[in-house]
Amino acid sequence: MNKTEVAIAGAGIIGPSAALELASAGVQVMVFERGRAMAEASSAAAGMLAAGDPENTPRLRGLAELSRRLYPEFLADVERLSGERVPIRTTRVVQGGWETPKGYSELSAAELEAIAPGLIAGGLKFFSLDEESLDPRDLARALPKAVRAAGVVLLEDTEVTAASERGGAVEIETGSGRWAAKRLIHASGAWAARLTGLPIVPRKGQMVVVEDAGPEQLKVVLRTPDVYLVPRGLVPRGEGRIVIGATVEDAGFDKRVDEAAVARLLDEAAEIWPAVRQARIVESWAGLRPATADELPVIDACGEHCWVATGHFRNGIVLAPGTARVLREMILGEPLSVDVAGFRCGRLASSAVHC
Ligand code: FAD
Repeated sequence: MNKTEVAIAGAGIIGPSAALELASAGVQVMVFERGRAMAEASSAAAGMLAAGDPENTPRLRGLAELSRRLYPEFLADVERLSGERVPIRTTRVVQGGWETPKGYSELSAAELEAIAPGLIAGGLKFFSLDEESLDPRDLARALPKAVRAAGVVLLEDTEVTAASERGGAVEIETGSGRWAAKRLIHASGAWAARLTGLPIVPRKGQMVVVEDAGPEQLKVVLRTPDVYLVPRGLVPRGEGRIVIGATVEDAGFDKRVDEAAVARLLDEAAEIWPAVRQARIVESWAGLRPATADELPVIDACGEHCWVATGHFRNGIVLAPGTARVLREMILGEPLSVDVAGFRCGRLASSAVHC
């Protein structure tokens, strides 16, 4: 039987980020991916690094802050190892709601006109946040190359079909043979329930991309409780394109895009950014966010040798470096950077989870 120190099931953003972190600590890591790396939720995302969004549950704050601190170093490592650029595409969000959250000041009409000319407030109060976004497709190109350059073996088209703890290790069945690992990390996103039995469910998100939305280029992310508009500008290739999202649906593993949902997204976007009505639709897609009942991730040992890192729901892109860091700390027995009590398996599973 082949052997490795740590095996990871799933190569969305979470698996390879954990692999990079462990490899940098000298651990031998293998990642098994059922399909292509970064082809599921992680490339369907809008790429907002919304660590400081006041709408986030306070229980995410520690992990989100840690991730925000680690992001520049994470991207620098990915770029250095892969030789690919993963540029920050926007640096500001103009966020609207019925109330202005404590600690923020409402932007005046003149301020709004200066930051986002063409925005229609429509009774909403807007405030500004320093928050970055990236294009997850840049990461999808770079991250698999980076992990391989760091010495991780990443096997695509290789599904983990079964795993069981035996004799102080985990035996793993894959499409291309059996492996023994000292530890297995389930980072299989919305599919994690299949092997672990944990109640992780897919929550579908549909997105639409438009271009040529009028003469005024949108340079900031616009976000309301109903919709967000994320411009892909500021670097070549992205100019003029706006990603509009996203639905949140319980539709099982269905990834079809439906016209009615796209039309609704476009209507909601046009309410605050009317130029969308003249824009050309260039693309649409749907992805499956991995979610738990309390909308918090699971980052924990769920057996003696089995770990789970999934359930990041709407925030997996921003939370990846922080998740990778605490996983490494937990696995290697290092002091923890943040309190992980809210991310334990036990809160979800009434009976023991399987490996
Ligand atoms: P995934 O990326 O889904 O990866 C899981 C991988 O595991 C898949 O590649 C799958 O093929 C593989 N797999 C499954 N089972 C097995 C198996 N048995 N063996 C081997 N491999 C297996 N987050 C943000 O931070 N900011 C955003 O702006 C944002 N916008 C979003 C917009 C949409 C429309 C969607 C859908 C999500 C968005 N998210 C955003 C959330 C984010 O995309 C997810 O939280 C994140 O991608 C989850 O990463 P993951 O690695 O857990 O899952």
